[in-house]
Amino acid sequence: MAQIPFLDLRASYLALQSDIDAAVARVLASGWYIQGPELTEFEQAFAAYCGADHCVGVASGLDALILSLRALDLKQGDEVIVPSHTFIATWLAVSAVGAVPIPVEPDANSYNLDPDLIEAAITPNTRAIIAVHLYGQPADLDPILTIAQTHNLAVVEDAAQAHGAEYKSRRIGAHGDVVCWSFYPGKNLGAMGDGGAITTNRADLAKRVRSLGNYGSKKKYVNDEQGTNSRLDPVQAAVLAVKLKHLDAWSDRRREIAGRYTQELRGVVTPHIPNWANPVWHLYVIRHPKRDELMKQLADEGIQTLVHYPIAPHCQEAYRDLGYARGSFPIAETLADDMLSLPIGPQMPDDHQTRVIETVNRLVAAL
Ligand SMILES: *Cc1c(COP(=O)(O)O)cnc(C)c1O
Repeated sequence: MAQIPFLDLRASYLALQSDIDAAVARVLASGWYIQGPELTEFEQAFAAYCGADHCVGVASGLDALILSLRALDLKQGDEVIVPSHTFIATWLAVSAVGAVPIPVEPDANSYNLDPDLIEAAITPNTRAIIAVHLYGQPADLDPILTIAQTHNLAVVEDAAQAHGAEYKSRRIGAHGDVVCWSFYPGKNLGAMGDGGAITTNRADLAKRVRSLGNYGSKKKYVNDEQGTNSRLDPVQAAVLAVKLKHLDAWSDRRREIAGRYTQELRGVVTPHIPNWANPVWHLYVIRHPKRDELMKQLADEGIQTLVHYPIAPHCQEAYRDLGYARGSFPIAETLADDMLSLPIGPQMPDDHQTRVIETVNRLVAAL
């Protein structure tokens, strides 16, 4: 029985092999391996794609978040509202600048930050809200932006899973103060290694992030502040520029796969899409009370599934010092217990999807 992988990254490379190989060879032959024209070209193309004035490449999605919070002058003791249900990097960025992550539960239907719960979490120390567009579905930005404006808070978007997603017909990329991207290979727009970027309409933040990622220097060997080394290298930028041209077609293919899952799956909870959202389906996540059993039985039938994410950040050992326990954020905990991500990707063949659907439906009927 052929194995069905969760995501076939090699297939994505092979689909564009000659273009990607040519782009890499061009950078290698150029003699220019840090910053330079290949990076600038990709930054401009990605900013234009996102409808943002500025794009700054950095070394990873986590660094995009950390440098954004630093550029906003977040510091020790400040509080940042974060979703209780997210990849832990969202929280780690807050902790990395010495601030405190203040979790807010997701909406139980969209799995994204519930705007109705945000104001109760705001204190005099709150400085920012990080909205995550989880699974490629935009968070409900308008009410979040209104709350932020009322309380004078910055809005940072974690768009690591949302390349090309639209909120009310406008692409994610510049709704909030700064938008953070990851180009980790498995993301919808992925490099051949680590990479990240920020997009923003705020020239001040773009300039500051670029300086912070370059040792705190705008002019060589003149350091305005204590920065770090976090740059998107030109080899990755050249690969990303090739892939960016195919992103919309890949998103369409993901939408097609998601549509079929939603139509044909039985006996599981499928994702709810608000009418203002045009998601890009980084993940297709179902829910079932016997998730662990279903996952194991699918694995026995050669179908690889994953859980995003099995332990809510507040239940992680890494965040023990915040003093939360099981029960502190019950929606996030329930999602961690019953969610299961099915295989999805731009190169997933139809017959693979047919087998996933038939197998899930058969197994669920007997669980
Ligand atoms: C992947 C991811 C990150 C981190 O990106 P890296 O490039 O791996 O550092 C942050 N937030 C979310 C929601 C992610 O999915």
